[in-house]
Amino acid sequence: MACIFCKIINGEIPAQVVYEDDSTMAFLDINPHSFGHTLVMPKKHFVNFEDTPGDVLAATMMTVKKVGRSLKDNLGVSGYNVYENNDPVAGQIIPHLHFHVIPRHENDGLEFWPQLKYGVGEAEAILSKIKIN
Ligand code: AMP
Ligand code: ZN
Repeated sequence: MACIFCKIINGEIPAQVVYEDDSTMAFLDINPHSFGHTLVMPKKHFVNFEDTPGDVLAATMMTVKKVGRSLKDNLGVSGYNVYENNDPVAGQIIPHLHFHVIPRHENDGLEFWPQLKYGVGEAEAILSKIKIN
């Protein structure tokens, strides 16, 4: 298996492991957006969000929650972002599902997204395509 995260999970490559249980692992991102930036993932290799079974996602989210708690309790962060780059067009470089947990501090200057405005009828047009019945 060439996947670098599988290699970390299997102990073939070192990492700064924040938390580990039977089905999930969390370790420090090697190039953090802020100090304490942690990656949380299932130990089993799934590429993206839709590929991953619900119970595995649930376990992974429980680990995200534990990591967030530790960042707040032990690193004194005011809050954190949780994001997942789903597929290459969204910036996913490593094709093993993982969630980024990014510690945030007041006025830290980390700005992520633009905010657009819908024109007349545009929100309704999008909604009519993606609404799940
Ligand atoms: P993504 O773009 O969502 O696939 O994110 C991949 C992340 O993995 C990036 O933030 C990298 O800094 C991080 N990364 C790559 N290699 C390693 C590694 N060996 N140990 C820890 N983090 C890594
Ligand atoms: Zn993998």
